[in-house]
Amino acid sequence: MADILQNALTQIDQAIPILEPQYPNREIFQRIIKKLKTVNNLIEGEIEITLDNGKKQKFAAYRSQHNDARGPYKGGLRFHPQVCATEVKALSIWMTWKCAITNLPYGGGKGGIAVDPKTLSQEELQRLARAYVRFLSKNIGPWQDVPAPDVNTNAQIMSWMVDEMIKIKKEEGNLNQNYLATFTGKPLNLGGSQGRDEATGLGGCYVLRSFAKAKQMQPNETKIAVQGFGNVGSWFARHAAKMGFKVVALCDSKTAIYNFEGLDVEKVAAGKKEYGSLAALVEKKIINAQILPATTDLLYLPVDILVPAALENVITAENAAQIKAPIIFEMANGPTTPEAEEILQKNKVLVIPDVLANAGGVSTSYFEWVQNLQGYYWSKTEVLSKLEPLMESSFTDVWQMYTANKNISVRQAAYIIAMKKVIDVMIARGE
Ligand code: NAD
Repeated sequence: MADILQNALTQIDQAIPILEPQYPNREIFQRIIKKLKTVNNLIEGEIEITLDNGKKQKFAAYRSQHNDARGPYKGGLRFHPQVCATEVKALSIWMTWKCAITNLPYGGGKGGIAVDPKTLSQEELQRLARAYVRFLSKNIGPWQDVPAPDVNTNAQIMSWMVDEMIKIKKEEGNLNQNYLATFTGKPLNLGGSQGRDEATGLGGCYVLRSFAKAKQMQPNETKIAVQGFGNVGSWFARHAAKMGFKVVALCDSKTAIYNFEGLDVEKVAAGKKEYGSLAALVEKKIINAQILPATTDLLYLPVDILVPAALENVITAENAAQIKAPIIFEMANGPTTPEAEEILQKNKVLVIPDVLANAGGVSTSYFEWVQNLQGYYWSKTEVLSKLEPLMESSFTDVWQMYTANKNISVRQAAYIIAMKKVIDVMIARGE
């Protein structure tokens, strides 16, 4: 996983030539860049739980806090065997930019535990979540660092975590903050926000719609392939189809399906829930689609927009030249490596970057935090009415920067905006 940290650092380097001339004091600029290329704080250690069989087991636990110049650290928690220090560092750097692009008053954080949660019972998982909070309680809080769900974590895990945090603060006799706001992505009955579930996918579709308008693309003539049909991919595909785009290919980790006339995404979503796999829907003729020989074949389909919405590092130097779509719309975090992006740029493939496209999730987490802090809860209509203009104006800012500069990528445009906001605050604070 060392390479994704290198990717995050390379992306910072690529924005420097445009940013540097804007800062006459080279020394301060260089000092700040050096700071931005490291994380403020990496908390790592081992946590131990008792398994159901009475034995003890240790797990490596991490939280990376990249930069908090603009506000408390914000970012998800992963439970995955590959979680390591370099991975959380890279992901926390990306969170800083994502929060800056969308103007959220946050910095970037990310954390997790090296564990395969499928090997644990619900009771063990709960003990692990609570142990993680005990490990981290001094470093998190509503005005310090606000974690959220990420890969393999969910609203239930956030419930256990927030409960443990409140218990710890009670034990310390320190309930002078609303510790409910320590975590976002909570269930509705424990301070969660309406609309959070679908927010990343829907937020991406608000960006997609603005982008299509800017490029004068007709949604009903725009063929889209989506890799991944989990939270992000499924909501993205459903809302894109509702907005009139032609979703022609979808995949989960086992099966890729396509129909160039367009897929009935609502039927796919309902069927996947009922039958558990995309393959079953084709085999049972519930949907009209063909199965591709391999899931990765989806990446090479002749569509107008390819949407990676599953994993990191799926478009690499090895396969970038095979991509036929002229546009890649990154809903996953870090799906395209910098080496791949160079090849894509040469081939005139436009990449709409993750830090813009998938920022709807953290934006709605911000709305959850605001609702917790004020103790006043909004309807779903109200939440989405705030998300829509936020995503649209973030796109407009990035697109204006992209079109005003020759020979930069949309990612560089996004980074220039985000890094400038962070650098300016650091200077204002006396860096
Ligand atoms: P998820 O676990 O709900 O879904 C992941 C999907 O990817 C599943 O459909 C899975 O079957 C599929 N998948 C796994 N391996 C695959 C493979 N080899 N080929 C094809 N498909 C594969 O996760 P998610 O929450 O939807 O997150 C997806 C991505 O979006 C991640 O990169 C995550 O960091 C990013 N993201 C998520 C959010 C959020 O709010 N959930 C916000 C921002 C970014």
